Amino acid sequence: MASQRQYRREIIRLGGRLHGCGFVAGTDGNLSVRLDRRRILVTPTSMSKGMMRSSDLVMVDLEGHKLSGKRNVSSEIAMHLLIYRLRPDIRGIVHAHPPTATAFAASGLSLNQPLVCELVVGLGCVPLARYGTPGTPELSDALEPLIPQYDAILMANHGVVTYGEDLQHAYMKMETVEHFARIALVAHLLGHAQPLNDEEIAKLVVLRQKYAGAKSAAPMPVDLNNGKQNGNNRVSETAEDSDSCQRVPARHR
Ligand SMILES: [Zn+2]
Repeated sequence: MASQRQYRREIIRLGGRLHGCGFVAGTDGNLSVRLDRRRILVTPTSMSKGMMRSSDLVMVDLEGHKLSGKRNVSSEIAMHLLIYRLRPDIRGIVHAHPPTATAFAASGLSLNQPLVCELVVGLGCVPLARYGTPGTPELSDALEPLIPQYDAILMANHGVVTYGEDLQHAYMKMETVEHFARIALVAHLLGHAQPLNDEEIAKLVVLRQKYAGAKSAAPMPVDLNNGKQNGNNRVSETAEDSDSCQRVPARHR
């Protein structure tokens, strides 16, 4: 098990990558690690995630009370605490505003078309949570129904949150989401996007067990009903696309 010092280094290293990749600007974004059953290490508010030092990080308990650190905790701490509460398997969370994926979120579009096999295997799909004012219960309410089923969520008119068994996996999912968003955008610009069919998706579901294994938290629903149940009426893919996603069997935790 890594030491707290190593976790601090990891947050700073991956914060630097978020900034370097252009996934955050100014003081945007936040990262956190669950150290143990009662402590979360998280980035501070009002600071570039590419310019942090170890001493800038803040430690809080699961209720968000500050345990140590000279700076104020991220204004999005409630979102992190909600994810840790709902997902005991999660040890790391990344929130950022990668431009292409955020543009989908700002256009009322989820990333639910099975255009690329790796994304189907790795994340299933990336649903869109309805808009909620950052740092308020409104945002937590929008995310809550999606968190148990998905490892990456678009936040309408805001950005993306990803999480995983550790911070590295959470970060890689953020890269995957933005990369896929770019592919989806170009595929649609080309005007000839051809989503995988049911039979091909079913084979990927089988492969998923092999590659992702039991350790993967990502479910395999690609289930648009989920988004609709959550009051997300802004997803505007065609009925045909939605249908092809819905038929993928859900994997229940
Ligand atoms: Zn944000």
